[in-house]
Amino acid sequence: MAKLKDLKDLVQNVNLTEEQIAELLTIIVDMKKKNENAEKGKIVLPPELVSLLEKCTINRGEELVCPLCGSTSVNKNGKKDGRQRYICKACVKTFGDTYGTLLYHSKLTVKQWIEFLTLTLYNASLNRIKKDMGINLATAWYNRHKICSLIMQLEGEQDSFPSIVEGDEFFIPLSFIGERNKSFFIEELKRMPRHHRNRAEKFEYIEQAGYEVAEVEDMDGFYDDETIPSNLSVSKELNGLDKEEKRKRGISNEQVCVITAVDKMQNAYLSPTCLGKIEPKHLEQHLGGRFAEDSILVTDSLRAYRTFANNNKIHLRQIPSGRHTSGPFNLGKVNSYHSKMTDFFDRYKEVGSKYLDHYLALFRWQEKGFNSRTADRVNMLLDMLTKGVPEKVEFPKLKYRPFPFDTKNIIPLLI
Ligand SMILES: [Zn+2]
Repeated sequence: MAKLKDLKDLVQNVNLTEEQIAELLTIIVDMKKKNENAEKGKIVLPPELVSLLEKCTINRGEELVCPLCGSTSVNKNGKKDGRQRYICKACVKTFGDTYGTLLYHSKLTVKQWIEFLTLTLYNASLNRIKKDMGINLATAWYNRHKICSLIMQLEGEQDSFPSIVEGDEFFIPLSFIGERNKSFFIEELKRMPRHHRNRAEKFEYIEQAGYEVAEVEDMDGFYDDETIPSNLSVSKELNGLDKEEKRKRGISNEQVCVITAVDKMQNAYLSPTCLGKIEPKHLEQHLGGRFAEDSILVTDSLRAYRTFANNNKIHLRQIPSGRHTSGPFNLGKVNSYHSKMTDFFDRYKEVGSKYLDHYLALFRWQEKGFNSRTADRVNMLLDMLTKGVPEKVEFPKLKYRPFPFDTKNIIPLLI
């Protein structure tokens, strides 16, 4: 490019006519205008977005990996509208800074994400989030499960137990809330989804599904106007029962069993296990290999624990039924963990069983850092959002996922 000084010399030496000077001035003024317009049209990103996008770039690290093909021959490919672009030399595709993170194609702004995460940490219901943020229910639902899946994928690794650990089961009513597969309810379960509220809506539901009202009128729940499933009270009763009583009563197959193990060092194992009563094979599958040689597992008097402990040579101390302690051992920690779980699930009223693992991951993660401030935890979640997730969270995959526990063929694994 010519230097300014050279240009000046050139202009002075070429003896320009008046017209030529005027023309030259017009060209320069036009150029100036063009530059100004370009400056105006430039996208200015809000500072909170800039710092989040920078985090995405930092999290990609020095060793860039292509999220499309996994190749490591990836180069930076300049910036577009203030945002970093990348190009993969292997698959010759380009991608942007949020590609591979859950921020990719997100409908929420950063400010909305912060609000959403805060409400999530307050265990707000989807309806409350919808109202407070003015977003639709589907967006709220989708983003909730994105967050839960993220926590599960990045922070969900379950713990092992080096010393004394308390184990127990927790029950949550089986729920099909949100399911739209009408023939499943009508043909397999022989009842209405419990959350269908009034009679008119129920008639509509049946008719839309192509059935005659008279055919199904006597189905369980058809005239039932309550919005909260009656088994919630059954679960509460079960969770509060004396262990021996719990066993005598027999556990209904409309209850999902959640296995819980906790110790005083904040180690926790928490997972939906099966419908109804827990069996030794479930304990094996979930807790097998998680105990050190001199760990002691403390449980109630349920026989399944005995079988499991014998098979795995685990030291077991069972609290006899009707008692609260056995020597120095008790179930205080797991009981208090479960009473927090009761409070947690109370806030949501009803949780679709298909997503129980998600809610439990959220609960477990919140419990692990229960003494940190909400604002700090929001930042931790924001930070997670800027990291690549091993498994993409896509709407159809979420909607049509199998139940995350052994359904014992009482209901199909996938509905
Ligand atoms: Zn690639």
